[in-house]
Formats: sequence, C-alpha cells, structure tokens
Amino acid sequence: MLENLSAQPADKILALIAEFKAETRPDKIDLGVGVYKDATGNTPVMRAVKEAERRLVADQTSKAYTGIAGDPAFSEVMIDLVLGDSVARARVAAVATPGGTGAIRQALELVRLAAQKATVWLSNPTWPNHPSIIKYLGMNMAEYRYFDSETRGVDFEGLMSDLENLSEGDVVLLHGCCHNPTGANLSYEQMAQVIGVMQKKRAVPFVDIAYQGFGDGLAEDARITRLIARSFDNCLIAASCSKNFGIYRERTGILMAIAKDADQQGITQQNLAFLNRQNFSSPPDHGARVVTTILQDPDLRADWEAELEETRNGMLALRQQLADELKRLTNSDRFDFLAHHRGMFSRLGTTPEMVEKLRAEHGIYMVGDSRMNIAGLNAQTVPILAKAIVDAGI
Ligand code: PMP
Repeated sequence: MLENLSAQPADKILALIAEFKAETRPDKIDLGVGVYKDATGNTPVMRAVKEAERRLVADQTSKAYTGIAGDPAFSEVMIDLVLGDSVARARVAAVATPGGTGAIRQALELVRLAAQKATVWLSNPTWPNHPSIIKYLGMNMAEYRYFDSETRGVDFEGLMSDLENLSEGDVVLLHGCCHNPTGANLSYEQMAQVIGVMQKKRAVPFVDIAYQGFGDGLAEDARITRLIARSFDNCLIAASCSKNFGIYRERTGILMAIAKDADQQGITQQNLAFLNRQNFSSPPDHGARVVTTILQDPDLRADWEAELEETRNGMLALRQQLADELKRLTNSDRFDFLAHHRGMFSRLGTTPEMVEKLRAEHGIYMVGDSRMNIAGLNAQTVPILAKAIVDAGI
C-alpha cells in the first residue's frame, strides 16, 4: 500500500527553520518562523497562562471527555471576545477546534456539506494553508487581487474589480486583522465597500482571525470581523488562540457559524458537532480551559490584556524603528509602509533573488516571498537589517 505514496511538496517555512539552525554565523537573524518572539528571541509563556495552568493543575478533578463541541464556557468567552454584542447570541453556532487551522478545516468542510459547488475566494497572497486545505478537500477556489507591490498596501481597485466576478453563494475568505503574509490591511471604510459588493452578489463571508490583539488592540482588531458578522445572514469565523495567548502547541481555536435565526443555528450547531465527531471526536481541552479561566477571571484577564499590549506595542516600536532607520539611510519615505502594516508580518515586496542575497550575504532569513516576522527583530538588529536592505539595493 505505502508504495503508492508520492512525496508531498516540502514546507518552505520548515525548510527555512532547518537552514537557519544550520547557519553558523553568530549574528544571523531569523525573520522566518511565524511565532512571536521577545527581545531575547524567546517565545514566552504568558504570565496569565502560567497562573491559569497552576490553578488547573491544582483544581482539576477529572480528565473525562468534554462534549463533542468542547466546553460551552469556552465558546461563550470566545464569542464574547471576537464578536462582542455585534450579533444575537442565539444566532451563533460554535465548536472548539484544534487551533485556528482546525477551525479553518472544519469551516471548509461545513461549506462543502452545505454548498458543494461553491467557490472559495482567497486573497492573493494569503496564508499558504488556505489554498492547501481547499485543494485537499477538492473544492473550487479562486483568487482576488490584494497586494500592491508598488505601495505595499492593499490593491483596493484590483480587489473590488475581482469581487465583481463573484457568483451567488460563493465564499470569500477575509483576514479579520493583521493580514498574513503581507501586513497590509483593509481600512474599516474599505471593508464596508467590500461588504457592499458581497451583499450585492449574495456571497458568504468567511473570516480568519488569528492575530486579534496584535494589530491595534483587542477591540479594534475585532471591529472589521464584527462589521462583517452583522452585515450578513450567514458568516463563518475561524479564530485562533495560538498567538494572542501564546499557546501555539496547545492547539486552541474555535469555529463560529452565524446563522440567520435560532432555527438555523440549531441545525448548524448539530452539523458542526457532526464534523468534529468525524474528524477527531472531542477537541483538545487544555488550552481552551486556560483561555476560559483567564477570560472569566477579572485579574487574570487584566494581566493577560496588559501583557498582550506590551507585546503589541513592542512590535509597533520595532516597525517604527525600522521605518525610521530606512528613511534615514535612503533619504526617502518608500519604506514607511513598514510602520503602517499591522501584525507580526510585513511583506518587504522584493524578489526571491534579493531574499536569497540577504540570506547569503547577511545571514538574514526571511520567507521567499519576502515576508518578514517583525517579532524576530530587536532594537539592536533593526539597524543591521536596515543596512542590509539598503546594501542589497532593495
Ligand atoms: N490563520 C492564519 C492567517 C495564520 O497565520 C495562522 C497561524 N500561522 C492560523 C490561521 C492558524 O493558527 P493555529 O492553527 O496555529 O492556531
């Protein structure tokens, strides 16, 4: 049987991690991997997470299964965190999933169950797992223009013009905040226009929100998601707790499906539970319980929010420092986009050859499409990167 298998395409980011590990230059800089790192290069366990785990170890009396949909308390706190009071609670079906990836997978399977022929529209570029899962599920896929390689902002005209090609029932995947891999985001007003076209075409939104709290703040980063959620009868939202709680390996995420009314919510909830059961039975619990503990306890929640703010402001300061340094070195404002981008990533917008040059000549590692993890920098390495960018002639 196994002789029938052929090799799968190599994961570029994993290959980059291996290359970086093997790199011997002591001043090497890793801007590749997609996890938050503090100034010392560590991915810390957040204070509130440690405390919540301490309490769980002390107080948990059973490890029996949670329900197929996960702990309802987790759904409650997450619906509140992501949606606030933007839609009636009775319209929201939700299941816990293994990370944001699990939520995306379950969302796409739900689309396949409900509308087998629907085309799923993705931004070009997007997080590579999006097209990969869609292809694996044998679903129809299309792309809308997103990134303007001149301005390194959103190609809004291109995007709007491509969305004119939507058919009724098509699904449009939108990043809730902090677009990965570009860092370029639609404004609230632009998203309102996108919503207008989607409503006209009777398309269905699917929001992937994996970095709430990494851009402009917890509530601010949810604004666009909430606007989308209240503008349609149906909406899918995949949320990840990996980044904003720093619990990457605990696999904590949630899929929310907003239904037209309470009746539709009931059948949707049943279908979500069915899909969980087919794929992994009940979802992982530890991370979800940590998140619930933090969000339900005012002191833990305040401490988590404070640490998340420190993290967010640290990344903003690095962005500003890098933009300032490049302004000084080039006497131009053509790198100001780095300060305007939001989230952990920025696409520098250069060629694979230049990316390779930065690696070969300066020991600076970024993904081939020139995505940089801003959190891979610190105050000392920013000037080194800026000089390398200028020296390479980017
Ligand atoms: N969506 C996007 C855009 C992401 O960047 C990521 C993580 N890289 C995820 C979803 C999923 O994250 P996880 O499965 O680790 O929760």
